[in-house]
Amino acid sequence: MTDTTTPTTALTTTVADDNVSVEGVPTGLFIGGRWRAATGGATFSVRDPSTGEVLAEVADATPADGIAALDAAVAAQDSWAATPPRQRSDLLRAAFDLVREHAEDLAALMTLEMGKPLAEARGEVTYGGEFLRWFSEEAVRIGGDYRTNPEGTGRAIVLKRPVGPVYAITPWNFPLAMATRKIGPALAAGCTVVVKPAELTPLTTLFLVELFRRAGLPDGVLNVVPSLDAKGLSEPIIADRRLRKLTFTGSTPVGSALLKQAADNVLRTSMELGGNAPLLVFDDADLDTAVTAAMLAKFRNVGEACTAANRFFVQEGIADAFTAALTAKVDGFRVGRGSEEGTTMGPLIDDRAVDKAARLVDDAVARGARLVTGGQRVDRPGTYYAPTVLDDVQPGSDILTTEIFGPVVSITRFTTEEEGIRLANDTEFGLIAYAYTSDFARGQRLAERLETGMLGLNTGVVSNAAFPFGGVKSSGLGREGSHEGIEEYLESVYVLTPDPFAA
Ligand code: ADP
Repeated sequence: MTDTTTPTTALTTTVADDNVSVEGVPTGLFIGGRWRAATGGATFSVRDPSTGEVLAEVADATPADGIAALDAAVAAQDSWAATPPRQRSDLLRAAFDLVREHAEDLAALMTLEMGKPLAEARGEVTYGGEFLRWFSEEAVRIGGDYRTNPEGTGRAIVLKRPVGPVYAITPWNFPLAMATRKIGPALAAGCTVVVKPAELTPLTTLFLVELFRRAGLPDGVLNVVPSLDAKGLSEPIIADRRLRKLTFTGSTPVGSALLKQAADNVLRTSMELGGNAPLLVFDDADLDTAVTAAMLAKFRNVGEACTAANRFFVQEGIADAFTAALTAKVDGFRVGRGSEEGTTMGPLIDDRAVDKAARLVDDAVARGARLVTGGQRVDRPGTYYAPTVLDDVQPGSDILTTEIFGPVVSITRFTTEEEGIRLANDTEFGLIAYAYTSDFARGQRLAERLETGMLGLNTGVVSNAAFPFGGVKSSGLGREGSHEGIEEYLESVYVLTPDPFAA
C-alpha cells in the first residue's frame, strides 16, 4: 500500500488556471521524524478560496495524535538543548537556504490555499524566511552574565536555558511567516516544537516542515499536527505538565481562552492577538507619502492582517485631498485570482470574512458614513469583496471597534493633535499605529503617547525579523523577532557564589 501522506521528492505546484496541482506537498502528520496518517485515517479538505475547489486532503490529527507529537517533542528536548548552538544554527540556516531555493513553490502554495496575489506571496517568502536566517544568527549569541550583589558579599552567574517543549498555534493569513516567527526562535533557543497550523492553510507549513526534514532535522525536534478540531486537539497538549510554553497568533477571544488554559499549567506564553490600528494623517503630511503608505497599511494581504490600518483619522485641512487621492488608487485595483497575471487584490479567505466586511460597511452607511467607492461583493465565483472607501464614519459605528480584516477604508476627520491621539487610543487594542506628518517633534510626541507596541511613522509596513513585533493592551503579550524574540524561549537561572575575596 502506498502511504499517500509521504511526500515525493519533487514538488510540482502549478497554478495555471486549468491545472491546479499540489503534488509533492506532504499531507500527513509529521511526528518523531516521520510522515504518517492520522489515527483512524481521517482527513479534511483544503480549498482554494478563489474558486472553492479542493486542493488537497490533509490528515486530521486526533487528540491522541497531538499527545504523540508532544511525546516526540519531549523525547527530543534534552538532546536538542544539548546540541551545540552552531549545529542548531546550521539547521536553521540550511532550512533558510531551502526556503529560498523553493521560494516559487512556497509562494504558489500560499496563493493557492490563502488567495493572496503571487507578488505578495513572494514577499511573504522573503519576510518569513528571514526569521530562519535571523534566528540562525541568534542561536550562537545566547549569553549570560556575571553580577555582584549590592552588598558586595556575593557573585551571581546568570545563565540562559531553553524553556522546554513548545506548542505553537498559527493563523491562516500569513501561513509561512507566522510559522517561522515561532519555529525560528524556539529551535535557536534549544526548544523542541509541536506546531498546529490553521486548518484553512496547512499546506505551506507542511511543506516548510518537509524542508526542515530535508535540511537534517533530528527526529522529534519539530512536529506538525493539522486538525479540524483545534480545541479538542489543543486542550490536552496545553494541560500536559511536560509542555512548558504556548505561543499563539490569532484572534483575541481565542488567545484569551488559551491564556486561561495556560494558567492552569503555569505556562510561559507569547500571544500575538487582534489589532484595531489607527492611521493618523496630519495636515503637514506629505500627501504622496501618506497615500502610498496608507495603501500598504490597509490593503496588504487584502486587509487580512492584524497590522492592517483599521481606523483612518484624517486632519480636516488635508482630508479632501487625501480621500480623493486614496480613492483614485483604490479604484485602480485589479481584483481576481492571486495566480492570474496582473491581479493586485485576491479573494477574502472565506464566506464569513465577506459577510463580516459587508455587515460592517452596511452598518457604517446606515449610521451616516458616505460610501465613496466599493461597498459590495464582487460578482464572480470565490469569496471576493470590492475594495471600499467610507468617509465621515460616525461615532458608534461597529467598524470603529471591530477588526475589519478586509479591504475597507474607514475615514473619520479630526481637528487637533490632541483629538487625534484621543481617538487613536480609544480602543482596547494596541498592536500598531500609523502616523503621517512632516513634523519630527510631533512624531516623537505620538511615539510617547499612542498606546501601541509599534508605530509606523511615514511608512506603511513595519514588519521585519530584526525588530520586536508585538502589542500592548488586548493585542497580546511578548515580542517576536529581534534579539528580544529569542528571550521568549529562554529562562534565566542564576548561580550565587560567595564573595571570592572574603577571608
Ligand atoms: P481567525 O479568526 O483569524 O481564524 P483564530 O483565533 O480563530 O483566528 O485562529 C487562529 C488559530 O487558532 C488557528 O490555528 C485555529 O485553528 C486556532 N484555534 C481556534 N480556536 C482554538 C481553540 N479553541 N483552541 C486552540 N486553537 C484554536
